Amino acid sequence: MGKIMTLGEIVVEIMATQRGQTFLEPGLLAGPFASGAPAIFIDQVAMLGQPAGIIGCVGDDTFGVLNIERLKRDGVDVSAIHVIKQATTGSAFVTYRKDGERDFVFNIANSASSQISPAHVDAQVLKDCKHFHVVGSSLFSFRIIDAMKKAIEIVKGQGGTISFDPNIRKEMLRIAEMREALRYILEFTDIFLPSGNEVTLLANAADEQGAVREILDLGVREVVIKRGARGSSFYDASHHVDVPGFVVEEVDPTGAGDCFAGTFVTRRLQGDASETALRHANASGAMAVSRQGPMEGASDMVSLLAFEESAVAFES
Ligand code: ADP
Repeated sequence: MGKIMTLGEIVVEIMATQRGQTFLEPGLLAGPFASGAPAIFIDQVAMLGQPAGIIGCVGDDTFGVLNIERLKRDGVDVSAIHVIKQATTGSAFVTYRKDGERDFVFNIANSASSQISPAHVDAQVLKDCKHFHVVGSSLFSFRIIDAMKKAIEIVKGQGGTISFDPNIRKEMLRIAEMREALRYILEFTDIFLPSGNEVTLLANAADEQGAVREILDLGVREVVIKRGARGSSFYDASHHVDVPGFVVEEVDPTGAGDCFAGTFVTRRLQGDASETALRHANASGAMAVSRQGPMEGASDMVSLLAFEESAVAFES
């Protein structure tokens, strides 16, 4: 079975325990949890039994050990995670507003993850890689962009495929080189997985249909749009399908998009039809939001199937 790989930040997440809590005063916190969007994605891939690996950096510290041990336990190949002596593992702190919206404090820009460079990427590291996943928000430095481009070129060069979840932070689009890098990646992408309002951000068209058509015309084979509790949609050159989500109580939305993407990409690679992969991915996202912690909601196939059997689909 082909290996799925990704590259990017591996961090810990610590979160508020009450809605409305802020970091302006002390409060009860939960965590540390293993986290980082690419790390959550690859953990979900490994949970489905697919060979999986991540290229990244952690500090020589407890949070680095926490992440490596957790990923290893779930079956991720951690041999391309580098322990950087002079750096610390990144962290993200999350509070939830009364309406469920999140606010983040990130300590990532100068963390071990910022040390990822093209030197960590070569044909040997990517030798078994059949599919490579890019998370847009991982591209927070030009050195990381260069490493990502190198990985994409190697994987494409050996006949592999690329998926791309833009996960765009608006401030990235204000930097011309970042926008250019995101567009560059899109041109190599086989499966594009934006959230609803992200579809138009990298296209010229202002409406969803127009943007999807433009993206497919670039050579992207599949566009999968994540729509929160409502579920998701699939487009390719000849076919469009909407698949409703599952009704769950949302406990913590962090990680839903990454678990969704991990499940969709893995199940497509394992041969599922688009609609079937979308249903499993919706189940994966729903299970992720119903548990506290970014990676805690990653599921194996037995639990996904059991959940789908008993869960109720969202009705618009
Ligand atoms: P992202 O986190 O990337 O913005 P979404 O919030 O759209 O992505 O979540 C990804 C997927 O997870 C959705 O397409 C859906 O299948 C599932 N999901 C997300 N939120 C919920 C929810 N509240 N209830 C049920 N399923 C959800």
